[in-house]
Amino acid sequence: MDEAEPFTYDGGRVDPGETQNVRYTVSETYMGDPVRIPVTIVNGERPGPTGFLSAAAHGDELNGIEVVREVAHEWDHETLAGTLVCLPVLNVPAFLAQERYLPIYDRDLNRSFPGNPDSTSAKRMADRIFRNFLEPCDFGLDFHTSTRGRTNMLHVRADMDDPAVARVANAFASNVIISSEGPSGSLRREASAVGAAAITIEMGEAHRFQRPLIDSALESVRSVLAEFGMLPTEVVQWPGWRTVIENGDEKTWIRADAGGLVDMHHQRGDLVYEDDVICTIANPFKTEDTTVRAPFTGLLVGILENPLVYPGNPLCHLVRLDERTRRALERTQEVRGET
Ligand SMILES: [Zn+2]
Repeated sequence: MDEAEPFTYDGGRVDPGETQNVRYTVSETYMGDPVRIPVTIVNGERPGPTGFLSAAAHGDELNGIEVVREVAHEWDHETLAGTLVCLPVLNVPAFLAQERYLPIYDRDLNRSFPGNPDSTSAKRMADRIFRNFLEPCDFGLDFHTSTRGRTNMLHVRADMDDPAVARVANAFASNVIISSEGPSGSLRREASAVGAAAITIEMGEAHRFQRPLIDSALESVRSVLAEFGMLPTEVVQWPGWRTVIENGDEKTWIRADAGGLVDMHHQRGDLVYEDDVICTIANPFKTEDTTVRAPFTGLLVGILENPLVYPGNPLCHLVRLDERTRRALERTQEVRGET
């Protein structure tokens, strides 16, 4: 049988059976003090693959922080086969400011991977993170939420044309997978390109801990670890129904054609039928309501939370469902079968 191996990074080493909590320096402040990110490395006693769990690449997206924290600190790792690299807050400067982007010229850390040690501050930080903690992994889960003012149902974004990535995405057992390669510089795309098959998990809204979503994501993490044989007592789960949205499939951000106050008639994750009223937009005098209807039958993957819109602002993210998926969804949700 193979021996369990130590996990090494620039400046340290974690032996089998050992857990280390590290504050790892990725940059320096204007004061010359270190900017350090929290990292917990759990190396199991038994041999196995290495996976990372990361969150808050966008500093105000909090749900994933709690997912990663609970996996690192509340799970029993006695039987773990392999190594978990837990990175609950990737973008510490943005997290401290409670902003999405690095407060330095508003740079997007999630477009700065794999990074570069001689380039911008964002790319230097990305390089420190990528080289030490992402690249050495076999797979990875990067947790996000919707952008501030909107909310997402829990879903996965992954390049389903990459078999290694599809394996992770399927094991995560979400109902909805949106397939794409991902933007250049994004963590999941660049990690996958070097053999750390990574997916993005979108869940809920920014600035919140949303318990039902966190619990659901934790179940899915167990399922992924089961797929990789890292938790001997767990099994890979099946979500009941699943739809994979390919690049060419119909999905659309429905945008407001009027400015005003939005009365949303649905929640994230709702099935809406063609021509259903999704929301109305009113002005403060309530003189003229604009009615927004579903252009096709589909699933509301994301909706706005902040009810104020300019013309052109996104109202909701609607994806078309095939007949079979729609019926499976109707059965599980018992949605409005009677109307
Ligand atoms: Zn994000």
